Amino acid sequence: MKKFKFLALLIAAVCLVFPLVGCCTKGPAAQIKNVVLIIGDGMGFNHVENAKKLFGLDNLIFEKDFFAQSKTHSASSGTTDSAAGATAMATGHKVNNGEISRTNGQNLQSIVELAQAQGMKTGILTNDNLYGATPAAFSSHVDARTNTQEIILQQTSSNINLLIGKSNSQYNSYQTQFVDSGYTMVQTFDALKSTTSDKVIANLRNIRSIYDETKINQTDMSEVAKFALEFLQNDNGFFLMIEEGYIDKNAHNNELQKSLCETRTLFDIVEKVYRFCKNRKDTMVIVTADHETGGLQLSTDGNFNNSLFSTTKHTSANVPIYVKNPVLKTEEAEVENTTIFEMCKKPILN
Ligand SMILES: [Zn+2]
Repeated sequence: MKKFKFLALLIAAVCLVFPLVGCCTKGPAAQIKNVVLIIGDGMGFNHVENAKKLFGLDNLIFEKDFFAQSKTHSASSGTTDSAAGATAMATGHKVNNGEISRTNGQNLQSIVELAQAQGMKTGILTNDNLYGATPAAFSSHVDARTNTQEIILQQTSSNINLLIGKSNSQYNSYQTQFVDSGYTMVQTFDALKSTTSDKVIANLRNIRSIYDETKINQTDMSEVAKFALEFLQNDNGFFLMIEEGYIDKNAHNNELQKSLCETRTLFDIVEKVYRFCKNRKDTMVIVTADHETGGLQLSTDGNFNNSLFSTTKHTSANVPIYVKNPVLKTEEAEVENTTIFEMCKKPILN
């Protein structure tokens, strides 16, 4: 009996010290060390379908991985804004519209902070301002999304390895704080690619969709995403959030073609990320949205008129969640958007 107890203790100790190679864990969560969360701001099912039709694309690489629908309502409203939507994914908590990873005077621990605590590298890439609600929820805690200065200040001490957003002069005022915290600050993709620093903030000009003919000389965001994956790659793994922010903005303006161009850019980003995943099982990829924007109808006649939008606002429609190498699955067809946090958390804490 004593011998048996000793053996049990020994096995428990081995599992504790070597959780990945011990006897307890051999499931998919143990294999995953990189987590990539791709958010199409405002991207509903019909943004995806219409973009496929407009660009003559058949099945997308990530559609075979379709997982579930995300219910996007916030704590304060049936129709979320990007602040509450991103907070749900970043922290697992439904908050009021406008709140950024903080509610009732309490900071909510984010997936980025969890990853950092595990010794993982972290990164945020958006073609919107880095202080925008979605990247802000992954890099700061503020009572209101409009607290721009506080968001930027918190980002200076966030220790996030890679912060990439669009060019914005507000960041220049914080150059000293960023540099004091060990960041290298760059303004071009070329400068970003040649940096040797392991903490970089990049405010890039011209990072809008290369398919939007009204914009010229744009940097291909999918190439920036590819760079981010290579930059963050390390033995301890990484968490990377990528936001395509202009699907939403163009949908607010009911500019359909522009919104679909940005959706196509998201497809390209996903393709680059899947290419990174080829021949490796250690990377989980989630492609989703924070909410639907515009109440977009499906084009049935091959025309893509702005009249396919039914509103200039966000709607309460469910949005898709596609997952490559999922470690947390549910039989439910619809899940709360906070489930996305749980899905990211599982492999990070494993
Ligand atoms: Zn919006």
